[in-house]
Amino acid sequence: MTTTTQRSYEVRTFGCQMNVHDSERLSGLLEGAGYVPVEDGLADVVVFNTCAVRENADNKLYGNLGQLWEHKEVNPGLQIAVGGCLAQKDRDTIVKKAPWVDVVFGTHNIGSLPALLERARHNNEAQVEILESLETFPSDLPTKRDSTYAAWVSISVGCNNTCTFCIVPSLRGKEKDRRPGEILAEIKALVAEGVIEITLLGQNVNTYGVEFGDKGAFAKLLRACGEIEGLERVRFTSPHPAAFTDDVIDAMAETPNVMPTLHMPLQSGSDRILKEMRRSYRSDKYLGILDRVRAAIPDATITTDLIVGFPGETEEDFLETMRVVEEARFGATYTFQYSKRPGTPAATLPDQLPKAVVQERYERLLELVNRISLEENQALIGKTVEVLVSNGGRKDDATHRMSGRGRDNRLVHFEVPADSLAPRPGDLVTATITEAGPYHLIADAGYSMRRTIAGDAWDRAEAASCAVPAPGAAATTGAKTGVSLGLPSLGKPHSH
Ligand code: SF4
Repeated sequence: MTTTTQRSYEVRTFGCQMNVHDSERLSGLLEGAGYVPVEDGLADVVVFNTCAVRENADNKLYGNLGQLWEHKEVNPGLQIAVGGCLAQKDRDTIVKKAPWVDVVFGTHNIGSLPALLERARHNNEAQVEILESLETFPSDLPTKRDSTYAAWVSISVGCNNTCTFCIVPSLRGKEKDRRPGEILAEIKALVAEGVIEITLLGQNVNTYGVEFGDKGAFAKLLRACGEIEGLERVRFTSPHPAAFTDDVIDAMAETPNVMPTLHMPLQSGSDRILKEMRRSYRSDKYLGILDRVRAAIPDATITTDLIVGFPGETEEDFLETMRVVEEARFGATYTFQYSKRPGTPAATLPDQLPKAVVQERYERLLELVNRISLEENQALIGKTVEVLVSNGGRKDDATHRMSGRGRDNRLVHFEVPADSLAPRPGDLVTATITEAGPYHLIADAGYSMRRTIAGDAWDRAEAASCAVPAPGAAATTGAKTGVSLGLPSLGKPHSH
């Protein structure tokens, strides 16, 4: 018979980095309560961390829940919990539509999950608990991170903006800022465990400090990160152009461990559409920020999010987006076709565009952004790149290539010469760029490697999971790879 302490769990995550990070906390909480990660087969507790931002999110969730219903029929001990943005939004509807769900919890009370599971089991009835606002800052909760060398650190949750396409403000509430001392203490604790890269996470990092009355708080936080010994890379996501101030640019330029990269959502190049989206900056202001960032940080790589086909977008509006994209020279662009999100103001706007129009514009834009990314990447051939080695890319035996991220967050595949010491995930490799594609670089020359505290932490984690590396492991090109990738990366950020 399974005892409480032996119950296994699985967290299935949908959506943005916020959810990925919340899922790390859910895992930490469940393990703190005695659950163990499922090894194979179906877990005793399946938790869905849902997203309301993506199209058809509810259909996907109910499809998944439907599949589990059959398992619940044969195994009544199976518990199903649904949390995240869709749970916050749909709350009671979930147990009405899927009465076999045991627990529904919201974005503000993830810390209650173990207690709610226990209560559902004890009372033999579904528990729905949704709070309208945050009681404990989620970073106070235990976290089980996916990566040994990179970590997310929340600095704020919620958003005070009201972009008309976005469901976040109504689901995540007003911005709540975490105090700098707490954030820095968390980062130092992470570095002590071997983490060398952190990504500061907030819906709108530039307004960090608004809640405790310090407008310069984000720049100060970046500079304070620069003082942390052993911390090699600091990133952040996402800033909002309307609130972007020069003190942040100065802090980025003057703090060596803040990486030369900026992901700043543009969404549209048309000022008219930006107004309709209720985004208070205009394209000139946006381009002006890029000029100042590039003047202060000449090697800065800028990436963005764009929405094509917002209601009422004309061909002229779209051409404005093409113009701004051409001028901005983005290193990477995450391009989305507008689709209605129920509950957002834009969903009820007239002039929703026909799919064929949106598709055609999307394809034109994609061609442009891919051409620019390729040109930007090709301009790097011959330059030296420092790569933080990931644990996601398995070494290809034929090419001896491994993968990681450059300081600018570009994906780099590099060759490990046959007679060289191979890196462990978390080690830093330096190599020369020899080829470029729109989404990656190849650096097959000039290999050298620096072992880091993150690589040492990888060895310890491997030893703890019984896959003990041979003494002085990674002595040649056989470094072990293939553990799930939890690193902050150019993977699609939440769209702001
Ligand atoms: S898109 Fe970003 S900035 Fe706009 S309301 Fe949503 S979370 Fe806030």
